[in-house]
Amino acid sequence: MPTIDGLPPLRHVISKNGISARKSLGQNFLMDLNLTSRIARAAGNLENCDVVEIGPGPGGLTRGILASGARRVLAVEKDSRCIPALMEISEHYPGILEVINADALQVDLASMTNPPVKIIANLPYNVGTHMLVRWLSAENWPPFWASMTLMFQKEVADRIVANPGMKAYGRLGVLTQWRSDVRMIMKIPSAAFTPPPKVASAVIQITSLPTAKYPSHPKVLEMIVAKAFNQRRKMLRSALKNIVPDVEQQLKICGINPEARAEDTTIEQFCSFARHIEQISCDELIS
Ligand code: SAM
Repeated sequence: MPTIDGLPPLRHVISKNGISARKSLGQNFLMDLNLTSRIARAAGNLENCDVVEIGPGPGGLTRGILASGARRVLAVEKDSRCIPALMEISEHYPGILEVINADALQVDLASMTNPPVKIIANLPYNVGTHMLVRWLSAENWPPFWASMTLMFQKEVADRIVANPGMKAYGRLGVLTQWRSDVRMIMKIPSAAFTPPPKVASAVIQITSLPTAKYPSHPKVLEMIVAKAFNQRRKMLRSALKNIVPDVEQQLKICGINPEARAEDTTIEQFCSFARHIEQISCDELIS
């Protein structure tokens, strides 16, 4: 059966290049080009965008992105075994696909792209959350990316979209939703991958807002939220007790019940407390 782009089917590419999946690199490959095209299309119109893809592997999602008409694609892959396969795709799309053989955590993606930038990736599960937190924690906002269409294990995706009162609500949800809109786009069964992971995955769409929903310094907010959810079953007055003297009183000043728990505290409340303690205390909080 012909493929969407006239290039060989992914199974051929993988066996020809000897890309046996490695657990240490979080390798679970998507084999269905119709599915990868669907994921790429979920990112919206790509014709006027630079797309960053982290971990293209043998190129299944890359081919979906290219078939969707992206202006330019910057693909960063750590595994050198995948590079020949990616170069073949690059030759098929001259001047559009640029492949970099590197650890994405070491690459300055902002300086290598032109706005608007969309990140689309099936992230390696072992470093995916770390990358997401880095993209969300930019001091300057709006960040270099306009949107991110990302695949995660379903359990991680649930945490990113969760609201107060939900079991999955935590640090990831607050950090994401504070300055972005987020929505779950589709669930992907583990059978869609080779090898199939133990759990299902999901694709989420994160769109950066021009400014945060509630003002707050990113480092202060991150510190408070990390401490609060580290002991999520404890009351805020205990979980946050070392942050400032008389934390109970400081929480009350912000209109927050000191006996509430992190899992019931809204993003607005976390931001209001972050602003307050930034004012009353300490330059050292943000240094
Ligand atoms: N995009 C492909 C797909 O959807 O079939 C592969 C996705 S696979 C889940 C994750 C990919 O990320 C692998 O190709 C792996 O080699 C790559 N990877 C792992 N760690 C990386 C890192 N630090 N920087 C860049 N790529 C990485």
